[in-house]
Amino acid sequence: MTKCLSCLSNTGERRISPGEQIYNGSYWVVEHAYPTGLLGWLVIVLKRHTEALHDLTKEEWSEFAEINYSIMKCIKKVLKPKKEYLCCFSEGKGFKHIHFHIIPKTRAFDEIYSSSRSFMYLKVSERNSISKEKIVQLCSKLKLEIKK
Ligand SMILES: [Zn+2]
Repeated sequence: MTKCLSCLSNTGERRISPGEQIYNGSYWVVEHAYPTGLLGWLVIVLKRHTEALHDLTKEEWSEFAEINYSIMKCIKKVLKPKKEYLCCFSEGKGFKHIHFHIIPKTRAFDEIYSSSRSFMYLKVSERNSISKEKIVQLCSKLKLEIKK
């Protein structure tokens, strides 16, 4: 069985994002994706391991809505995107754990990657990723902003 990479990241055993957690709630954490070709690509990850949306509790859904409200306002202010995508597949190898992607269509976003093609931004090597330094900076900025 493939080890769950989200669980390993959540416990801190093998963190995925080079930046700090942007938000740490009762049921969810918000992190920056890594590696990625798009600065501002965030993930909202469930703290416990489950693989189907129908297994989420009402409390988990409630907090999810609140987090989305806050993070979208925060993204708007800091990254100034035209719009944001929000999606959940949880199908990748090692990534069956429920997580949502927030993909901001910033000025850096290339329209040739619009809609589901945006996942091309996750098909980059660490060498071609947005730098760890930039991600660390953005995470700190978003973390401060989301508390306001
Ligand atoms: Zn997991």
